[in-house]
Amino acid sequence: MMEAILREGLSALSLPTEGIPALLRYWELLAEKNKVMNLTAITDPDEAARLHFLDSAALLALADLRGKTVVDVGTGAGFPGLPLKILEPSIRLTLLDAQRKRVDFLREVCGGLGLEDVACVHGRAEEFAREHRDSFDFAVSRAVAALPVLAELCLPLVKPGGQFLAMKSVDTGEELGASGRAASLLGGRLEKPLDYVISGTSIPRRLAILTKIGETPKKYPRTFAKIKKNPL
Ligand code: SAH
Repeated sequence: MMEAILREGLSALSLPTEGIPALLRYWELLAEKNKVMNLTAITDPDEAARLHFLDSAALLALADLRGKTVVDVGTGAGFPGLPLKILEPSIRLTLLDAQRKRVDFLREVCGGLGLEDVACVHGRAEEFAREHRDSFDFAVSRAVAALPVLAELCLPLVKPGGQFLAMKSVDTGEELGASGRAASLLGGRLEKPLDYVISGTSIPRRLAILTKIGETPKKYPRTFAKIKKNPL
């Protein structure tokens, strides 16, 4: 069933289906590890197919990530980054998370699936940004923080001309409104969001898009305590 859901969903997005066996193997590893550590609240395979894999895959239909450097900030169990890499192998991916155990799991998955050009990095985005400023074509992120906070964590990593793509629910009008100022302080511009539904479902989603138009001033990102206490 999971396979059929993926096949239908990917086809509807006009995406290739060769990655399906790797996605299924990834789910096996994830479901197994989820018994001994907290990786995902979703345990039903069909739900995982829709809410993890097809949700992540939607990005490939909305942005051209081919051959690009992409950092997934707060990737957790690998979403959206790993499905993107499985379905579009030319992506040069960095998976970043503050929880060491999750990063260890991601290394196991990459080894098990034989994925190349994936860096699994244990670290906090605001610290990683000190050495990787203005350097990725794209930053992506799902379910990590409200957009003004997330913008300060992610936009510093993006090179001028690149974009930060934030996967959000549709219930984010206020959050978006508050992000225009944050974006410009960080050297970016808030674009019009893209609304879509997860393929094969009626679940609405929104992609917030921030384009990097200049370098991020050196004072950003601040420490996480400051970012949280006083969001831009
Ligand atoms: N993106 C995944 C996981 C969301 S849970 C998904 O959509 O399923 C949020 C994750 O962000 C956690 O794994 C947490 O460790 C990580 N995280 C939170 N703040 C972070 C930061 N400042 N830098 C790096 N990772 C962070």
